[in-house]
Amino acid sequence: MDKLKKLVDKLEKEQRLSKEEFIALINGRNEELAEYLFKKASDIRDKNYGKRVFVRGLIEFTNYCKNNCLYCGIRAGNKKAERYRLSKEEILECCAHGYGLGFRTFVLQGGEDPFFTDEMMVDIVKNIKKDHPDCAVTLSIGEKSRESYEKFRLAGVDRYLLRHETANPEHYAKLHPENLSYENRIRCLHDLKGLGFQTGCGFMVGSPYQTTENLANDMVFLQEFRPHMVGIGPFISHKDTPFANERSGTLELTLFMLGLVRLTLPHALLPSTTALGTIAPDGREKGVLAGGNVVMPNLSPLNVRKKYMLYDNKISTGDEAAESLNNLKLRMKSIGYEVVTDRGDYFER
Ligand code: SAH
Repeated sequence: MDKLKKLVDKLEKEQRLSKEEFIALINGRNEELAEYLFKKASDIRDKNYGKRVFVRGLIEFTNYCKNNCLYCGIRAGNKKAERYRLSKEEILECCAHGYGLGFRTFVLQGGEDPFFTDEMMVDIVKNIKKDHPDCAVTLSIGEKSRESYEKFRLAGVDRYLLRHETANPEHYAKLHPENLSYENRIRCLHDLKGLGFQTGCGFMVGSPYQTTENLANDMVFLQEFRPHMVGIGPFISHKDTPFANERSGTLELTLFMLGLVRLTLPHALLPSTTALGTIAPDGREKGVLAGGNVVMPNLSPLNVRKKYMLYDNKISTGDEAAESLNNLKLRMKSIGYEVVTDRGDYFER
């Protein structure tokens, strides 16, 4: 036990460990070690960002997708998914509504939908920036060429979220169809960082075939790549995917990984994700107590929310809904945190 606590101390001090050390921590974890880790993770987050939790308004603007990721409910092969796209006007309305509620970051997320050309995305982003010059815009629309990313950057996009999903090429191949490669995913992430986006990667915890070694790979990847944001959440099966009968990831392991990420990347923006809130009613609060400092309530129009079903039972209308921002504020207050409406940019002193 003491040996493992010493490893946590070492991670805190040096912000890096070897793959073997990460494996030892993950395999040897128990409640006591987790508490030890969460306390340190929380203290570091408090030191860097205070008792503040940032909010982002999430606009899921299309669930059309040309890809066929085996885990994802909006994969092209899921003929049961009811598809929708928001128009430019609807997206701008979401932003205006969100602005009124206090949001100063808008995250446009979608499947990889060729209907939205680079030019359309540039036009949408420019309009959001024109309407709300004090807001940050984040895109999360998958793998593109460097040229496309550059166009988005020039249009004013501040941040880009692209989870690496798993930092092990063989594992990556088990989660994705043959036409998608780990190499291209990583190429995208390097392009994004090189172009000056605040760049987010991330992974699912408990995805099919995942080993402890894979999770250690993820940690080693993070400490090398040093992203500005890391989205991690449990894998949750979706009934109309090839992984319908696979077991979902646990709250416990997801929180432990979140704590490790906070010690590795003391300044990172770490969302306490919707998937965490989906597997446990107090998952979001627990995510903050393990080191998270971002929540992303859903700003999509109510009539499409149920259609963006990445996994079964994805929550969208409770306290994770943008309209319930006040409830979310109260929840965070109950654990000693204040939801703030700054842009919440990455910050390193
Ligand atoms: N098309 C975009 C957005 C994908 S959805 C992109 O490629 O980046 C955002 C994230 O949801 C994915 O990166 C994935 O990690 C997560 N996700 C998808 N299906 C999931 C599932 N079944 N369980 C948990 N998370 C899932």
